[in-house]
Amino acid sequence: MNLLTQRTLKRSISCIGIGLHTGDKVHMTMHPAPEDSGITFVRTDISGRPVIKASLENVVHTRRATTLGVNGITLSTVEHLLSAFTGLGVDNVMVEVDSVEIPIMDGSAAPFVFLIKTAGLKKQNRPKKFYVIEQSIFVSDQDKYLSLEPAQELVIDFSINFDHPLLESQSYQVNLSRKIFEKEISRARTFGFLQEVEYLKKNGLARGGSLDNAIVIDHFRVLNEGGLRYEDEFVRHKILDLIGDVSLMGSPVIGRFKAHKSGHTLNHSLLARLMETPEAWRRMTAADLFQPTEFYQPEAARVTA
Ligand code: ZN
Repeated sequence: MNLLTQRTLKRSISCIGIGLHTGDKVHMTMHPAPEDSGITFVRTDISGRPVIKASLENVVHTRRATTLGVNGITLSTVEHLLSAFTGLGVDNVMVEVDSVEIPIMDGSAAPFVFLIKTAGLKKQNRPKKFYVIEQSIFVSDQDKYLSLEPAQELVIDFSINFDHPLLESQSYQVNLSRKIFEKEISRARTFGFLQEVEYLKKNGLARGGSLDNAIVIDHFRVLNEGGLRYEDEFVRHKILDLIGDVSLMGSPVIGRFKAHKSGHTLNHSLLARLMETPEAWRRMTAADLFQPTEFYQPEAARVTA
C-alpha cells in the first residue's frame, strides 16, 4: 500500500523568474515538507517570514489569477505551480518566495514540472487522502457553468467558446494521471488578447507580461513567433488552471468536472459550494479507494489491481 502514500520533494530546488504583474525578478525555492503539512508559501521578503497556506479559506481574490492572503499579506499567481504539484502527485512542499507573486516562467506549468522532477519525489509514510464525490453539484454564471459529479477517477471535460476565430468551440477531456498531465496539459500557456494586454499595461498591470510568458492573440491570429504548442492550447490551459484551483482543497478530488468557459472565479464558487455541501463528498485515504480501476495514479492502482 505504500505506493499511495503522500509525497514530498527529495531535495530543495530554486529558480528565478519574472513576476507577471510587477515585472520584478522573483526568487523561489521549494523545500521538502513534513507529512500532512500540505503546500505552504513563505514570503521571505517580509520580516517574520509570514506563512500562507495553500487552502480555500486563504483565497482573497480570483480576478485574472488566484491570490492567497493571510492578515493582509498576499501572494498571487499561485495556480500554475499548484497545478504542477497536483499533476505530479506532490502533497507536501514549503515554497519560499521573495515577492508578491510566484514567477510566471513561460506562462505554463512545464518549468515547474521540470524543477519538481529535477528535485525528485520522495515517498512519505502517511496515506494520501482524496475527496471522493458522492453527489453532483453545479454552479453557473450567465453562459458559463461548472459541475462536479461522482466518477471512478479524476476526469475534466472542458469547453470554451469565445467570439474569436481562434477560440470558438474548443473542447478537451482528460482522465488525469501524472503522465497525461505532464504530456498533454503542463505545457499549455496562459493567453490574452492584445488589446487587453495593452489596457493592463497602461494601468500598471501585467508589467512583466510578454510573448515569452503568454500566448497573445489579436483579432485574427497568434502573435507569438513559434505559434501554439498544441492546436487547442487555450482550452488545455483552462484545464491546467482548474487543476491548480482545485488543489486548494488540500487533496485531489475523485470526480468528473464538466466546465464551459469557467475561470478562476467560477472555479472557486464551485469549491465553496462543495465545502458547504458535506453530503456531496467523502474524505478517503488511498487505501480505502483501492479498486481494480485506474484512479488518480494509475501506475499505482494497476500494481494492486
Ligand atoms: Zn493560468
